[in-house]
Amino acid sequence: MKKNIYILGGSLYGCFLAYQFSKNKKYKVNLIENSDKLISSLNPISLGKFKFNNGLHIFELPRSRNIIKFFKKDMKIKFKFYNNNKKNLFERNIIDYSEKLSNWPENIKKNVNLKKKIYNSNQNLKDYFKNDLIKLFKKSSLRFSNKFNESKRLFLPYFLPGDVKDISKDEGMIYRNLLKTSKKKMRIAIPKKYLFSSLQNPMEKFLKKRGVEIYFKTKITFKDNLVRFYKKDKEIKIFKEKMDKVFFCSNSAVMLKDLYPKYLSELDKVRIFFYNCLVEIDKKEKIQNFSEIICLNSRLQNMNRISCPSNYFNFQNRKFLQIELYSKKELILENFKKDLISEIKEILSLQKKPKIIDFKKTRTIFSPDKFWTKKSIKKCKNWIKKNEKTIISRFNFLPVNMNKTWIWAKEDFEKYS
Ligand SMILES: Cc1cc2nc3c(=O)[nH]c(=O)nc-3n(C[C@H](O)[C@H](O)[C@H](O)COP(=O)(O)OP(=O)(O)OC[C@H]3O[C@@H](n4cnc5c(N)ncnc54)[C@H](O)[C@@H]3O)c2cc1C
Repeated sequence: MKKNIYILGGSLYGCFLAYQFSKNKKYKVNLIENSDKLISSLNPISLGKFKFNNGLHIFELPRSRNIIKFFKKDMKIKFKFYNNNKKNLFERNIIDYSEKLSNWPENIKKNVNLKKKIYNSNQNLKDYFKNDLIKLFKKSSLRFSNKFNESKRLFLPYFLPGDVKDISKDEGMIYRNLLKTSKKKMRIAIPKKYLFSSLQNPMEKFLKKRGVEIYFKTKITFKDNLVRFYKKDKEIKIFKEKMDKVFFCSNSAVMLKDLYPKYLSELDKVRIFFYNCLVEIDKKEKIQNFSEIICLNSRLQNMNRISCPSNYFNFQNRKFLQIELYSKKELILENFKKDLISEIKEILSLQKKPKIIDFKKTRTIFSPDKFWTKKSIKKCKNWIKKNEKTIISRFNFLPVNMNKTWIWAKEDFEKYS
């Protein structure tokens, strides 16, 4: 008899895990998803009359080589490849991600004091930067959190000069070291259709073809000491007695919401709003080539990233910038627009003022601190141990890079099959 694998949540991690288990005929794979689409985080957003990814999305190479191979070979998805021209912004200075300190602009360099040429996660801004830049980092960090110690991991080591090496073993950091040191230009891949949502339907078809049973519009709850399934508010009983292994592949907040609502309500204090602003620039404007610019700018402390979707897709021959902003409070967009237009003009040395086409809140993210995360994971683990021992989980509260979800799925299959 086949063993029943239940995958709770049609996230990218859940889909990759379903693929891994479907390789072995010993398993019957069941995938449970609340919405009517797989990988719903890749749903596009509307800005003006066009559709965009909800924030810049890219596959970085070589770290995502296996994912690209998988989508190309098994789903016939076509990709376009570009150079990874990642940049950092210090006020109005755009600096290449891999640029060594000696080539940084003098006005920024004078505020750098490299005591070390290596980085490990225990280090602080003052090991690398002087007061003026430390102030800029702290001001910018307010878009994520009031506690700089918690948000510093979003700045260090990303804004360090190209000659500072990160020594952690994390696969993302290994890639970023390569990006800094390699003489060869690293590449990024984007689906030919531009939108990452173009991966959703092929993934569904592919998994179904491999015999994966997908249950859409089926909600998972963790009530009264049991994992339960509901379709249109009606509980479905059939799954329960047949679950040999259960993988929880959604955000752990789903679990915590039912188990410890009190903890979940604490998350409201660490809520961050994510905004996308679509800016049109004159198509004759010559701007420098970048895949993304990660920003530190005291006039626009909420601005996190600038990318240029028109580099990857022809939006009726118009030239767009996609500006991503984070804020702990709801932004009053009208107040913001004037500053945004004039600052973007200066940063990119535009001839004409750019135009804002659309500006809206498109996502809410929660950014819990280490203490909250630790105590919440402990609660979830204890509940599983006591009530539903077959559940396996990565206990994750934050959006995960797509490449990591591939690695997780492979590791989990090897460990639990
Ligand atoms: C601004 C931004 C930019 C990003 N850019 C990149 C990038 O460039 N490169 C990269 O690799 N990654 C990037 N990421 C990460 C990536 O987009 C996804 O966040 C990541 O893959 C996680 O999404 P997911 O769909 O896999 O997981 P989740 O969003 O956690 O999926 C959870 C799934 O479970 C389902 N679900 C929820 N509750 C229930 C329930 N009660 N019952 C049943 N099902 C339920 C949901 O409908 C959903 O389908 C970015 C993220 C953000 C926020």
